[in-house]
Amino acid sequence: PGTLHVVATPIGNLGDLSTRAQAVLRGVSAICAEDTRRSGQLLAYFGINTPLVALHEHNEDALAQRIVQRLLAGESLALVSDAGTPLVSDPGYRLVRAARAAGVKTSPVPGACAAIAALSVAGLASDRFTFEGFLPAKAAARRERLQRLSGEPRTLVIYESSHRIVETLEDMGVAFGADRPAVLARELTKLFETVLDGTLADLLAAVTADDNQRKGEFVLVVEGAGDDAEAQLAEGRRVYALLNAHLP
Ligand code: SAM
Repeated sequence: PGTLHVVATPIGNLGDLSTRAQAVLRGVSAICAEDTRRSGQLLAYFGINTPLVALHEHNEDALAQRIVQRLLAGESLALVSDAGTPLVSDPGYRLVRAARAAGVKTSPVPGACAAIAALSVAGLASDRFTFEGFLPAKAAARRERLQRLSGEPRTLVIYESSHRIVETLEDMGVAFGADRPAVLARELTKLFETVLDGTLADLLAAVTADDNQRKGEFVLVVEGAGDDAEAQLAEGRRVYALLNAHLP
């Protein structure tokens, strides 16, 4: 069988498409892309003429089977998403799973990933961290999720869009305490790249004070809960386990 190459593409700066990524995208017989128009523009910039196949969340299951057939027949293919690393808050999981289940080799061409890029400049503990992707869009679900994350001791990395950045910072301040240190990384590798740090209250003040700070794409990196919270959580779990053992 052929190989399914999972290829990271830039998150802004086109210079971040590696030479190996270019060679792989040029060499495969087709590229599965989330949005063929967007990926088409990227490929055109690099003079790559490989045919594109549209693969989005809605058709992924059905299409995965057809793509796996092509791989089994010996074709090598690539998977890209609109930006950054496929499968990281992006489509591709079902295809990769189906390919592996069929015994097809999956091979990464690593590159940009907004979460890792943000973590690398945040200056918060990065020996352990937890990636939460996008928080739920609905307010109630988002608050509940944040409440559950409030005692998390590891650094927290989340994706956010310009529509909800204010609400998310507000809700986080309530759930985690407004004095929790955090870093807001915006438009990484692009013209208006900014990396702000401070407390959640500082960041909220910064984005509400300046319209421009609300534009673009964001990664929010939040310091983990301190030992106190961790200890409280552990104590809570211990008590719960005790109770649970005694309740009918
Ligand atoms: N697969 C991508 C990756 O590897 O980072 C993520 C795709 S997800 C649909 C898009 C989100 O990633 C945005 O809403 C934003 O939170 C984050 N993101 C993407 N590009 C970014 C950038 N240049 N600067 C900051 N955040 C970015």
